Amino acid sequence: MELTSPKIIKQIAADYGFVFKKGLGQNFLTSGKILEEIAEAAEIDDGGVIEIGPGFGVLTNELCKTAKKVVALEIDERLIPILADTMAEYDNLKVINKDCLKIDMRALIEEEFGGETISIAANLPYYITTPIITSLIEAKLPIKNMVVMVQKEVAERIQAKPSTKDYGALSILCQYYTDPEIVTIVPAGLFVPPPKVDSAVLKMRFLDEPRVRVNDESLFFRTVKAAFSQRRKTLLNCLASNFPLGKEKLSEIMESVGIDPRRRGETLSLKEFASLSDALGKESK
Ligand code: SAM
Repeated sequence: MELTSPKIIKQIAADYGFVFKKGLGQNFLTSGKILEEIAEAAEIDDGGVIEIGPGFGVLTNELCKTAKKVVALEIDERLIPILADTMAEYDNLKVINKDCLKIDMRALIEEEFGGETISIAANLPYYITTPIITSLIEAKLPIKNMVVMVQKEVAERIQAKPSTKDYGALSILCQYYTDPEIVTIVPAGLFVPPPKVDSAVLKMRFLDEPRVRVNDESLFFRTVKAAFSQRRKTLLNCLASNFPLGKEKLSEIMESVGIDPRRRGETLSLKEFASLSDALGKESK
């Protein structure tokens, strides 16, 4: 079945009385080339894959061709019988009717893949993009690659470099644990129904070790959050509202690691955030 064909998608929807739910981010992909790019970027190599939001199964189909096993999490129960038909030829697929934000991913990987390192592939529903990416990254799961279709703006924020308008706490979180890379930009017209904005396929390869070494990860992320709390203010003012050490002491700490207190948070590299949070940690001891 040619699931990339808009005509077939509309036919399936009509046959099953399926009406697209905007609230669930149901925009189905119609480009075979993009599907191949997603599957290739996921580097499945006969391994395991978790797919989030299979829809009618257009990406699932591509993943099942090369994976040892695919586990697809779909929140919409109306899609379960449709997937049983469209994916009938595969015996390496398990579809689970659950909300990916509410499932215990660690237990799922253990149960379905014996704890083996897996890949994640998804054309993500846009309303959950940030929470799902953040939770998958923070959970420190056995994942080697995450290849996700997201809004173009979000992909740009995730891979942004210091001193650019897109650089922020999300860029730092993602770059601390992974190597993010935009694989390709996907115009809105390649989806049925088309969303309002263009998308991008983003590949995040998990690093063996975090990109920078820090003494206390939670303090590192607290420092980052504080630095971006008020974008127009200096780093000193942002930190002062979040760390009750007094401006004089804070300036001293910043200067001790070579950071000018008048700089703005968005100019700091991950390495600078690491030395700053380590210095703040020493002071609070
Ligand atoms: N994979 C298909 C494709 O590429 O055409 C469909 C992708 S569509 C953008 C997003 C899919 O995610 C829909 O099937 C939607 O029902 C499902 N979905 C939405 N929220 C979800 C959630 N919280 N957990 C699991 N699936 C979800």
